[in-house]
Amino acid sequence: MSQDFSADQKRYLEGFVAGAAASRAVGGLGAAPAQTGPAGASGPDAEHIAAQDAQVAAGKKLVDQEKWKREQHPFEAYRRLARETATGKLPAPADNFRWRYFGLFNVAPAQDSFMLRMRLPNGIVKAHQLEGAAALAARHGGGYLHVTTRANLQMREIAPESAEPLLEELMDLGIVARGSGADNIRNVTGSPLAGIDGQELLDTRPLCRQWHFHILSDRTLYGLPRKFNVSFDGAGVSPALEETNDIGFQAVDVGDGAGVAPGIWMRIVLGGISGHSDLARPTGAFCRPDQATAIADAIVRVFIDHGDRSNRNKARLKYVLDAWGFDQFIAAVEAKLGRKLDRIDEACIAPRPPTDRYAHVGVHAQRQAGLNWIGVALPVGKLTREQANGIAGLARAMGDGDIRLTVWQNLILSGVPDAKVAAAEAAIAALGLSTRVTPIRAGLVACTGNAGCKFAASDTKRHALEIADHVEAHVAIDVPVNIHLTGCHHSCAQHYIGDIGLIGARVAVNEDGDTVEGYDIAVGGGFAENARIGRVLWKAVKATDAPRHVEALLQTYLAHRHDPQESFQ
Ligand code: SF4
Repeated sequence: MSQDFSADQKRYLEGFVAGAAASRAVGGLGAAPAQTGPAGASGPDAEHIAAQDAQVAAGKKLVDQEKWKREQHPFEAYRRLARETATGKLPAPADNFRWRYFGLFNVAPAQDSFMLRMRLPNGIVKAHQLEGAAALAARHGGGYLHVTTRANLQMREIAPESAEPLLEELMDLGIVARGSGADNIRNVTGSPLAGIDGQELLDTRPLCRQWHFHILSDRTLYGLPRKFNVSFDGAGVSPALEETNDIGFQAVDVGDGAGVAPGIWMRIVLGGISGHSDLARPTGAFCRPDQATAIADAIVRVFIDHGDRSNRNKARLKYVLDAWGFDQFIAAVEAKLGRKLDRIDEACIAPRPPTDRYAHVGVHAQRQAGLNWIGVALPVGKLTREQANGIAGLARAMGDGDIRLTVWQNLILSGVPDAKVAAAEAAIAALGLSTRVTPIRAGLVACTGNAGCKFAASDTKRHALEIADHVEAHVAIDVPVNIHLTGCHHSCAQHYIGDIGLIGARVAVNEDGDTVEGYDIAVGGGFAENARIGRVLWKAVKATDAPRHVEALLQTYLAHRHDPQESFQ
């Protein structure tokens, strides 16, 4: 095996070779597609087939996606899929679903092309990888990258003929996209300032990497009832938003008298899905950091066994938890693990250190003396090739070579010496980017919208910038305000945790049924120590009227706050 691969990458590749061999043993890789699974199936997909069979036996009807997984497992379809797209054809729904296992999405009719979503554990990309990804975007896509709300990179406008070469050239960079779409465990997020933040309790990078490579090495962790999110929060100044994930691990400082060894433990919170108006809740269970991967694995396997495969709207972990209650669910996890989980009295746990809502933008001193991180705002997450190359060059010349992406759709350069900060800021400005932004742009988040996503009711990214332009011109806001725009109920931009959240809606303009782009507008959401779900204040506001509505909310806050320290929330 080439010396270009790291030890973790080798483990991943070897694990997948083993998985493919097991697959062949049960009739995979070119075997005729099975319409129904064999009774008592063995092999890598046995748990999934058994779960499907149990639901059919209980009188449920499997959704199409479950049938597609069973007809031909996506990992056994790669050569066929590649041959077909090489002819210039975009895939129909079943094969579009299969391509998503590899990270490629046919986004027609929004765009007649593929979108690629990568996997970057803890949101960290190396300078050479960012340059390489930008070059691939120029060669195979639209020439730009988007930073996503899972601290990840997406590439758009990819011709079908580019599907296979792009995926393989991405692997050449040491970046994988496997499992970043469809019913799989998505990009693993962690604290964006892990390892450089003076207040963090725990560096989340090793945990994210371990879980990332654990997933990549085990085919049985793909093809869940629905997508699945896992996040690790190290209690730093910039939060990981773990409460919006199916599983959140929260670093906590446990004192004496808890019945366990004092020190840093992980609180296990479950069931976050903000688009369904729910945040992850504490289970009462805790683990040591080095146990997190095994426990996440057991949780996922309980979900594999019991997640609903007959109704896509009820297929997320939250619905198993709602049906069972946390005690029953944790008992099932303990049965998978073969041991009890630790319980810790919350009274023995120190409060989480506070977050700073501006930590992801601007210049901040690292815990390493003489070094700084610099947060760079990106206009709703967009990065041109020239900007990506410029940022990568800066990371190498003035920083530690890492670029940290955040769930706020911006990026952070780390390891910049005091003496180079001014030059770095000037170089960033020369790229047309900024480290100094208003409170509005620091917290402006928008999903892809209808410029690239077929589900969107509105052009979220364009409207986000219009709202920011209008509000900055009319309101002297002096406190952090997060404005999140999401195009549909899938809630990729998590509108319900924004101070102000907008969810795309078609707005009727006459009695003939004509509609225009618009939004329902919610207020009062929050995250980290202020986590809560917002509530809808106005429904069906035309997009052209949205800036004035947001302005009215902010003007009302300024007029009625009791003192300048009172938050918008
Ligand atoms: Fe597309 Fe909806 Fe996600 Fe926006 S929230 S990117 S519209 S799926």
